[in-house]
Amino acid sequence: MLSQDILVVGGGLAGLAAALACDPQLKVAVISKVHPLRSHSVAAQGGINAALGNNPEGRDDTWEGHAFDTIKGSDYLADQDVAELMCEKAIPAIYELEYFGVPFSRFPGGVIAQRPFGGAGIPRTCYAADRTGLVILHTLYEQSLRRQVKFYNEWLVTKLVVKDGKCLGVVVFDLQKGEIMPVKARAVIFATGGYGRVYLRTTNAYINHGSGIGIAYRAGVPLKDMEFVQFHPTSLYPSNILITEGARGEGGYLVNNKGRRFMEDYASSAMELAPRDIVARAIQTEIDRRNGFENQYVHLDLRHLGEKKIKKRLPGIREISINFSGLDPIDTPLPIQPAQHYSMGGIDVDIHCASRMEGFYAAGECACVSTHGANRLGGNSLLETVVFGKIAGEEAAHWVKGSSGSKDEEKHLLDAALEVKKKIEERQKREAGEKVHRLLNRLKLIMSEQVGLFRNNKDLGQALEKIAELREDYQRVSISGKCLRFSQELVNIIEFESMLDLAGVITLGALNRTETRGSHYRLDFKERNDKDWLKHTLVALKDGKPQISYKEVHITKYEPKARQY
Ligand SMILES: Cc1cc2nc3c(=O)[nH]c(=O)nc-3n(C[C@H](O)[C@H](O)[C@H](O)COP(=O)(O)OP(=O)(O)OC[C@H]3O[C@@H](n4cnc5c(N)ncnc54)[C@H](O)[C@@H]3O)c2cc1C
Repeated sequence: MLSQDILVVGGGLAGLAAALACDPQLKVAVISKVHPLRSHSVAAQGGINAALGNNPEGRDDTWEGHAFDTIKGSDYLADQDVAELMCEKAIPAIYELEYFGVPFSRFPGGVIAQRPFGGAGIPRTCYAADRTGLVILHTLYEQSLRRQVKFYNEWLVTKLVVKDGKCLGVVVFDLQKGEIMPVKARAVIFATGGYGRVYLRTTNAYINHGSGIGIAYRAGVPLKDMEFVQFHPTSLYPSNILITEGARGEGGYLVNNKGRRFMEDYASSAMELAPRDIVARAIQTEIDRRNGFENQYVHLDLRHLGEKKIKKRLPGIREISINFSGLDPIDTPLPIQPAQHYSMGGIDVDIHCASRMEGFYAAGECACVSTHGANRLGGNSLLETVVFGKIAGEEAAHWVKGSSGSKDEEKHLLDAALEVKKKIEERQKREAGEKVHRLLNRLKLIMSEQVGLFRNNKDLGQALEKIAELREDYQRVSISGKCLRFSQELVNIIEFESMLDLAGVITLGALNRTETRGSHYRLDFKERNDKDWLKHTLVALKDGKPQISYKEVHITKYEPKARQY
């Protein structure tokens, strides 16, 4: 049986940062369902935040200022000690990336360039044109190869194996061989990314099914703050490919069908650079009031930036617009609409990225260390992946050195793999059954129409009922082919179980939270309510049913105040 000291699941930025931070004396491997360079991190455009103070307009920036913006942006739901830790570590993290070889864009004179991003008082987003994720991911991958980290690509993790509250390893589906098998590990770190594809309109990659989060949930680890789903204001209509916030950071305008910069009505001071929850709702409100175009989109106007700036600072955006819409932002405004973008919630872990399960850690978008609270600021997610990925690696290595194996581990792992295999065989035996792609389409519609930007009691209640119906239909799903090698159908069937769980947990949390906070907007409870709701939602699976509880938010020195921009 394959055995590792530390198994990192996920080859995106959080996974690679974790693998690089593990003690090189330990046996460390990364499992990824796609080649690591195809992870969604590669698509990140706009940048990564750190209070370097390189921009002439932000010379006196401090990490404390960055922490304050993060906490205010989170609508005061972030754990303040966690946000402080991330912002303090941001500065050395950027220099470490630079040392590793990340080719950041520069200001004249050679220092790392920084641009303004939403919700930040000061321009502090470091970038590499509009391909920041791509260059960081390639650099960390190179470093991982240099350190001889072992990679198992095109392996899908399907299950966490647990005994007496301790993580023993995972069960994987090896796509190349079409085989199910166990992998033993003394510690497992999940860095499996977000679940955007639960929604119809999303900026996320096709692979972002969130199965890691569902696997942890079914293994008994609670999920935290899942009702907070970020909708990005500017996705290109109709493909929903992201147009980075950097486009507004560079000075882009949002304009309605009357030719007005309508953000004046919603955030008169920050305008286009208000936080994402506020801008996304403003755009949708304009569309709903028939101030948009074709009832679908508004315009992002970059023309006044001029050809030179667009080509230099936003070359990827220009390329995407030309290739996917046939429009050149140098001379035409871009049609944009909000789309699901990011998951603030995730696997419940503490400031050390440790979960309640012994030997199980999580970092990056799949985790909720709780630094983004109810709304994440642009540029803070890449930062989270590198800072907390590293912490997860260090902490897991520390745990492994002090831990010992338990009896019957291998038998337990083999039994778990057998169980997964049996379930698949049952589905293969079915002559006719439901098809998973149909269920997936139904789920996306429910989530987009009833658990989207604007929510209310009736819709959320109905959504829960429909998800329960889907769950019954899922039992009847069959597999068409006998050969499982590269079976995308099987991958979808396995991952759909998690998507159903996540949809249920998001909706349940949203139904119970009778207030508006950050990205969670209730039409029937339009105010934030700190008295009753300044707390984290936890949903855990108990006896096959979701059980909801709450836990306090860590406040250090920033008293919750009304958010104004
Ligand atoms: C278009 C776009 C642009 C963005 N731009 C920015 C930006 O400019 N700045 C910013 O701060 N943030 C940005 N974000 C957010 C940020 O990029 C992501 O949150 C972050 O990169 C996630 O990194 P990760 O390592 O957690 O996950 P990912 O990069 O998504 O990697 C997940 C990994 O897990 C693997 N995996 C998943 N499930 C399984 C499984 N069951 N078994 C095996 N492997 C599995 C996948 O193969 C993949 O390798 C952007 C997001 C998008 C979608």
